[in-house]
Amino acid sequence: MRRGFDEVEAVVFDLDDTLVDTKVAFAAAIGAVATTYLPHLPADRHPEVVATWRADVSGRYRAYTRGELSFDAQRMLRANELQLAFGGVELDDAAYARWRDAYSAAFRGAWVAHDDAAPALQELVRRGFRVGVLTNAAREMQVEKIARTGLADLVPLLVAVDDLGVGKPDPRVFQEACRLLGTEHARTVYVGDELDVDARGAIAAGLHGVWIDRPGARRGGPHPEDPEAARASGVTVISSLADLTDALRR
Ligand SMILES: [Mg+2]
Repeated sequence: MRRGFDEVEAVVFDLDDTLVDTKVAFAAAIGAVATTYLPHLPADRHPEVVATWRADVSGRYRAYTRGELSFDAQRMLRANELQLAFGGVELDDAAYARWRDAYSAAFRGAWVAHDDAAPALQELVRRGFRVGVLTNAAREMQVEKIARTGLADLVPLLVAVDDLGVGKPDPRVFQEACRLLGTEHARTVYVGDELDVDARGAIAAGLHGVWIDRPGARRGGPHPEDPEAARASGVTVISSLADLTDALRR
């Protein structure tokens, strides 16, 4: 039988849109490439482009996290899906290389931690919880992201998508994070912004699953995100990381 939160000894975090405000960084990156590669599109339509990017209805990023596409291959496919959806020209390899450079510069320049991230990490460590990060992006970028957002002294990166060659919701990555922290699955909480990949994936791997449903942050797309259904399936739903430290109060 699953133990309750009373016995939790470790908290593992998703990085993007959980500790780091990646939504803002995506908006900056997609805005930058839309300005150049969809020049006919007025800037007030850029939020639609961002929403299409984040929804990823063809599931390209998930194919990457299953090990079926390279990171760059999934991104080029998605870049051309945007070009097609919003009336731009198709990007060949050379044009995509320039698109990628513009995207990456704007993306990296906009990384910032959520305001509640550092206080929550500090509070959990102060109370004796072990903490770490399990991410569905590549290690090199996530190490840079954790450093640039000021979180490097607060939380270690445990598992990235390229460590085992697969990502969440594969149970092995959750279990690897527990192994590295030295904690039992049933005494470990996983917190993330994607209900199915993060919270439900964690529960399927034997951990506690927490879905952080930040106001206005849902991605849409093909994956239903219903708080009531989530709770009914054993997921703890929070709207900020302050809620997490409250939920774990013994
Ligand atoms: Mg995330």
